This record gives sequence, structure tokens and C-alpha cells, in this order.
Amino acid sequence: MSVQASPSRAAAGRGEFMRAAVLRAPGLFEIVDTPVPEPGDNEVRVRIEGCGICGSNLPLWEGREWFTYPFESGAPGHEAWGVVDEVGASVQGVGVGDRVAMLSYHGFAEYDIAAADAVVPLPDELEQFPGEPLGCAMNIWQRCQIEAGQTVAIVGIGFIGAALTQLAADRRSSYRDFTPAVCAHDGIGMRCPQSYPMGQHGLRVGADQAIYGRIDVPARHRVCR
Ligand SMILES: [Zn+2]
Repeated sequence: MSVQASPSRAAAGRGEFMRAAVLRAPGLFEIVDTPVPEPGDNEVRVRIEGCGICGSNLPLWEGREWFTYPFESGAPGHEAWGVVDEVGASVQGVGVGDRVAMLSYHGFAEYDIAAADAVVPLPDELEQFPGEPLGCAMNIWQRCQIEAGQTVAIVGIGFIGAALTQLAADRRSSYRDFTPAVCAHDGIGMRCPQSYPMGQHGLRVGADQAIYGRIDVPARHRVCR
């Protein structure tokens, strides 16, 4: 990864500047100074503490011929969390100082704007927590409508895969004839050999089997336990 940094002039507040990452070209992020955004009526501004890197971010980083670079500053970060530091005039139920996780679109920056209904409060116990992918996991879980007697295959044991494995394991305990959850690895686009031990993680969070393999080399899979 290449990063070009410039000195920060960042400071919170109207008319001030913040640092943000700009994806200039495949494999090249640049840190730039850009104005701190102002929230609209139904939006909040969040001082970002961290932002997850989604699997969907990776093609933009790797490059595809149909992408146009550079991307907007802070994009494509959408898994941020932090502290609300300003709210729009019509916002209710979220206040300055609240720690929240959110769905926004320019989260690779010191501040980002989110719709007031796209933030959720973070409990004190969760210091570093990307809430957006947890929301994805819950959507997947709801749509799957897991029932007794089914076998669950989860491809990839990253953040979302681990959450789904845990949900499947929990559900198994309430269904007597629920067949074992299976955790498969590795997912499309995750081809680095170093990620293989993550299959063990699947077993730790409740899977009954881990299948090691690569999508592009299916014959080399092997089942452990
Ligand atoms: Zn995502």
C-alpha cells in the first residue's frame, strides 16, 4: 500500500479542515486536507474513531477498468464509528457526544456525515466496533430463514462470517435436529495463504467443520474435523 501524507490542519468546527484519504489510483491512497463537512437538517456529523475495510472496498483498491479515479475523499469507507460532534436542526434522538456506529460513505476521514437514522448508539463495552457489517450479518441471517434440519455453509470467516457462524451455532442449540454449521474458507477475492488459519477461527466461534480451500483451486480443499 502506498500512502502520501501531507501535514494536517485538522481541527473540529465550521470552516476548518480535516484529513481524509483519497484513493487516487489503484494501490495509491493520498492523505489530503479537505473542509470538515456540515450536516444537513436530518444528518449528524461524526468525529471518526475508526472505519472497517469492507470486502467490497478491495476491488476499488485493486483496480477495475470500469472505475474512475480518484474517488471522493473518504470514499469508499462505509463502516465507521465515532463520536457525534454536530447534529442537524431536525435531528432527534441523537445528540452531540453520543458514541455511534454508522452507515456513511466517506468514512476514511477524520469526520463524516451520516443520516440521523443511519447511526446507532454504541454501548460502552464496544470500544472499536464497525456496526454496519453487523447490520449486514443480521440482514443475511433474516433473509436466510434458517430452519431445523438444514445445513449452513458460510463462505469466508471474516467479521460477517464469524458473526453468522455464531448465530448458526446459537440457533443449533434451540433446534434438536439442526445439522451442524459448516464454515467454509476462503472467500472470493481472499486468496492470500496467510488467511488460511482463519478457518480455525470458524471452529472457535461455533462451526462444526472448517473446509479449507480456494475458489480458484477447488480440488485442493480439505476438510478438518
Ligand atoms: Zn461493507
